[in-house]
Amino acid sequence: MNSTLKKGCIICGADLKGNKKAGFYCKKSNILFSYKSLKASGIIKRELVGSKKSDKFHKSECIGVISLKKENMVFFSSDKTAKKRGYSHCALCYPNYPR
Ligand SMILES: [Zn+2]
Ligand SMILES: [Zn+2]
Repeated sequence: MNSTLKKGCIICGADLKGNKKAGFYCKKSNILFSYKSLKASGIIKRELVGSKKSDKFHKSECIGVISLKKENMVFFSSDKTAKKRGYSHCALCYPNYPR
């Protein structure tokens, strides 16, 4: 499954298309970026954010993340890991998940 990485291109700033395994491709610059290099450049941020003060976790772009204090933030690579650690889906960024 391919996904779009908005303004992900390090060279021209265009959207990238691809996936974790195959890498992300910029049509404009004709360059394929590896997931690793995008992560290292800060284009891909750690995906899920929770707080030590609550039991909810968010997608990094959720407005709920803005109110979290930096020192209380905890990060998860997947919702599976977050759930394992006792967190549940935020109602704002995961409207379709049971909680
Ligand atoms: Zn580009
Ligand atoms: Zn959220």
